[in-house]
Amino acid sequence: MQKPSPDNPDVTLITPTSPMSTPTHGGRAKCLQRLVRLDLPVPRTVALSFGAVHQIASGYRPDVSGILAEFDPNALLCVRPSSEDPDWGGPGAVLNIGMNDARYSDMCDQIGKAAATEIYYRFVLNYAIDVARLDADAFDEIDGEGHDALVAALELYEEEAEEPFPQEPAVQLAEILRSMARAWEGTTARLLRQAKGAPVDAGLGLVVQEMALGLGSGECGSGVLQLANSFTGLPQVTGRYLSQSQGREALDGGAASIFLEKDPRGPSLEELAPEAFAALKAHAALMRARLREEMQIEFTIENGNLHILDGVRVERSARAALRIVVRLAEDGIITRQDALMRIEPRALSELLHRQVATGAKRDVLGTGIAASPGAATGRIVFSSEAAQASAARGEPCVLVRRETSPEDIRGMHVASAVLTERGGMTSHAAVIGRGLGLPCVVGAASIRFQVKRKSMVAVDGRVFKEGDEITVDGTNGQILAGSVDMIEATLDETFRTFMSWADAERDIGVRANADTPADAKTALHFRAQGIGLCRTEHMFFEAERLTPMREMIFAQNPQDRQAALELVLPMQRADFLELFRIMQGHPVCIRLFDPPLHEFLPTSRAGQRELAEALDIPVSDVTRRIDSLSEYNPMLGMRGVRLGITVPEIYDMQARAIFEATVEAAREGITIVPEIMVPLVSAKREVELVRGRVEAVAAAVRTENSADFTYRLGVMVETPRACLRAGDIAEHTHFLSFGTNDLTQMTYGLSRDDAGRFMSEYVRQGVFSEDPFHILDTEGVGELLRLGVVRGRAARPNVVLSICGEHAAHTESIAFCRAAGFDYVSCSPFRVPVARLAAAQLALADKIV
Ligand code: PEP
Ligand code: MG
Repeated sequence: MQKPSPDNPDVTLITPTSPMSTPTHGGRAKCLQRLVRLDLPVPRTVALSFGAVHQIASGYRPDVSGILAEFDPNALLCVRPSSEDPDWGGPGAVLNIGMNDARYSDMCDQIGKAAATEIYYRFVLNYAIDVARLDADAFDEIDGEGHDALVAALELYEEEAEEPFPQEPAVQLAEILRSMARAWEGTTARLLRQAKGAPVDAGLGLVVQEMALGLGSGECGSGVLQLANSFTGLPQVTGRYLSQSQGREALDGGAASIFLEKDPRGPSLEELAPEAFAALKAHAALMRARLREEMQIEFTIENGNLHILDGVRVERSARAALRIVVRLAEDGIITRQDALMRIEPRALSELLHRQVATGAKRDVLGTGIAASPGAATGRIVFSSEAAQASAARGEPCVLVRRETSPEDIRGMHVASAVLTERGGMTSHAAVIGRGLGLPCVVGAASIRFQVKRKSMVAVDGRVFKEGDEITVDGTNGQILAGSVDMIEATLDETFRTFMSWADAERDIGVRANADTPADAKTALHFRAQGIGLCRTEHMFFEAERLTPMREMIFAQNPQDRQAALELVLPMQRADFLELFRIMQGHPVCIRLFDPPLHEFLPTSRAGQRELAEALDIPVSDVTRRIDSLSEYNPMLGMRGVRLGITVPEIYDMQARAIFEATVEAAREGITIVPEIMVPLVSAKREVELVRGRVEAVAAAVRTENSADFTYRLGVMVETPRACLRAGDIAEHTHFLSFGTNDLTQMTYGLSRDDAGRFMSEYVRQGVFSEDPFHILDTEGVGELLRLGVVRGRAARPNVVLSICGEHAAHTESIAFCRAAGFDYVSCSPFRVPVARLAAAQLALADKIV
């Protein structure tokens, strides 16, 4: 291998101009070069490139004499890893290289016996365990202190390694480089970093740096400093200093470590070494400004003199990350656009919900699909009734069900979290959970659910019974035993500022799927530009609404149905008026009833009895009627427009409720142009029939109220045939909204409620690269969407296009929708900020290219 030289990119002394980049030498080497360019007191450093380290791992002997020639022959050295992304880890640093018997006796004179002994002793241990790979336990058993311990360690080394401790610095360095290079290429290390997103062939660079000792006479020590708090992101000098220490020891130095800035709780570096502290703070501020990042500094003080050994990006919680980028932009260090690009859209979900604290201990009892983000702790309940009883006692509970249905809504409203055995990203529990902002894990097939016995069995065999405490982490799909430390949601001024910057950049609209006043308020709070999908059947999930809804479904003749509809009409009118009021003139798209009937049939004995009472008929009649209404495949049965056409009075009632609410809103000064959406369309004639009746109702309401209003009629495109025939269909519609949940179900021929059972296995085996109910399948489903767009637009150039399936908030889907020319995406209210940021980043990325 070549010697270090200014123009040898493989082994190079770090100077302001040496050839160096993060993709070839790693982040640490590049950062050190930046610090050198800033003229900070960085000890002399040589960087080895990824290529050089790979060669060493493959057996080439590094040119250590060339490297050593760069340093003072009396200097001690350290080697640190330098991977491309610091999160990918790397072998631990090795300090004090070059220590041997001769240096030891010199140093005893120079810095005192105690400090010299400590340095040598540490190096022997470090080398023995991490480089020579001797048994760490044997070294743990060394008795005695100071010189005796050192002698014992050297003897033990010789005994275990069957050779004396290497005295030659060149041998030491060669072995250390080899061991670190090999460690990086080991299988475990590779798998670990791949789990953090590193590519298979991620490289490792190494930096060899002259040590500033941190031990010795005069004020010596080391510490770590940053200018922002890692949890809050607020400006705060944070870190510790420990006299007579090296590396990052100050951080776990306990009571002996002192504060940096003056602090009423104890002594500080500011008091101990005011000049060094002032210089340190100034260096940190310079690094923040010039490296355009909040940095943590590792420093050493040697006989009163300050050395900067390293700078790394400050670790940060999601909320700190947001504050840090907003402050950097407000301080003029980075642009607002940079700030937007630095935050992962998904990370925003962490701010909108309570989360398990980073680093909290997790006792995982099973996992499932992370269906609705956030985390909550509660006692297990197995029924909606038990959830309500628990809420009445003021006890937080987790509702555990095989799957949920509208009968569980009451329970879901009061539960802290929901866990189901079955289901996928678009199952009932998942959709409702996201709407309510309720942490939810579905399809947890690894846990055995024994709902009747009111218990569940964890993967490891532990049994959890009703009343036991668990935590549902809907952000990563884990179920944890007991309670864990949490961090609260934050929606502060910083968040609003940041989101306003995103809105200034994005070029696609973002609306929310909101069914209830509570959803609508959340949607507006998150600055949705309207409601893109109001699933009207969800308005009947409320306890007192479910029975009239069922009466309507169960009516066997027009008179009974009319009676039920008359009960429902005022409720719907009030619902719509409330939505119009909340949305303050923003568009509201109301989807006509699309109830998969099975979701509304009472399955429990109690539910059937309740309905029998309401209808004043025997329970046996109710069960008979349930039998006659039940379908082999309800999701492909009497749903959507099929119900609207065969029982037209239902859509008539809804159209009337929408128009009467529009008139009333106008009287209150709210101008609204309601959008009416027809679900599950597959043929043009379906739209013609519905449109005819809706127009008639509009005319009637106009005449009855002597009022005028406009409205828009559109179609939910969610069957493959509707995509193929979008040209015909668009003739009759103002807008086409693509329902990718059903469209995915029908394109794959894969039940959205049952897919959870095998989805993880399918993804694990690479059959699907992702769960298509979660991440839009831009190839298959995408092709249908593209056909729908092209054909719809050709027939009606100004048709408004949108997507309202659960995919809508994902960056991939938004990218697809922008490319296809969609006007807006519509997603669950809590995902609106995520979609706003993702859309802004896509627009910015286009500008950069
Ligand atoms: C869809 O099918 O994509 C959709 C949004 O409607 P739902 O989930 O109510 O079927
Ligand atoms: Mg649908």
